[in-house]
This record gives sequence, C-alpha cells and structure tokens, in this order.
Amino acid sequence: MNPSPHLLADDRGVVTQCPRCHRANRIPFSRLHQSGQCGSCKAPLAHPALPVEIESLAIFSALIAGASLPVLVDFWAPWCGPCQMVAPEVARLAALVAGTMLVAKVNTEANPDIAGRLGVRSIPLFVVFFNGKEVDRTAGAMGAEQLQAFASAAARRAEGAR
Ligand SMILES: [Zn+2]
Repeated sequence: MNPSPHLLADDRGVVTQCPRCHRANRIPFSRLHQSGQCGSCKAPLAHPALPVEIESLAIFSALIAGASLPVLVDFWAPWCGPCQMVAPEVARLAALVAGTMLVAKVNTEANPDIAGRLGVRSIPLFVVFFNGKEVDRTAGAMGAEQLQAFASAAARRAEGAR
C-alpha cells in the first residue's frame, strides 16, 4: 500500500534484513539505540534508516511504549497529495536521524483506530513520542531539515523534563 521504501515492524520490534546473509532480523523496540548483530551470521546490523510503516494499533502501542529512542510518526493517507509530496523528505529524515530517533509512518485510512486515538484531524501530521508519551505535534508538509529541527527540539525538551 505504501509505495515508498520502508521497513515493517511486528509488536516486538523493527524487522530488518541482514546486509550479509539477507536473513530477517528483529531489532527489539527496547534496543533501538544499540548496535545489533545478525542472529544468524553475526554481521553488524545498521540502525533503521528508512521509515517504519506501522500496520496495526497493537504494533503502534508496543512501539510507543517500548521504544528506547524518540519516535517521530508521520500520519499519512494514500489520497493526501501533500503527504505524497512530503514522503521523500520523511525518508530523508529517517536516514539523517538513524540511531538517534526512529521515524515511523501510520496510514490513517488503513488504521482509523490509531488515528482516532491520537485525534488526528489534518494530515500530514507529525507527532513526536518519547518514553511512552506524546511530546509535540505539528501539521503540514515540510522539509527533512525542518522536521529534524522540530523533532530534536521536542525530544530534548522531553529528556530535560524526565
Ligand atoms: Zn546475517
């Protein structure tokens, strides 16, 4: 459904492919800040550098509750033109912040339960979560650097308030 390059997650972690043996590996949400290695061939696994498409409320809840890094979630829909325009910027952001923040995406059309819980009214909407809580949100398309500045400022405030 999402045509741009992305990773997937289950309710325990982000699923990524080993660059050497191509086996699927799960990086647990609680270890997103650490450098992992392939469970099969022990090759080092890179931090997720693509947006992670969240496909259910259960996965979303597990990610927000368990993530060891701040999470920026892009709420989008296939019919939303500005969302399509901003998708490459969101992908660029994921590469810019790899290892310090996780970038996730929620298709609000496929997941109305998540959108309803978050009170999503206009999209694209970007929400930053840290330690299980929403920290800040902003609506409307913007560039990767602007998104990074917004998300970093929100994460810093949350860390200071901890
Ligand atoms: Zn491997």
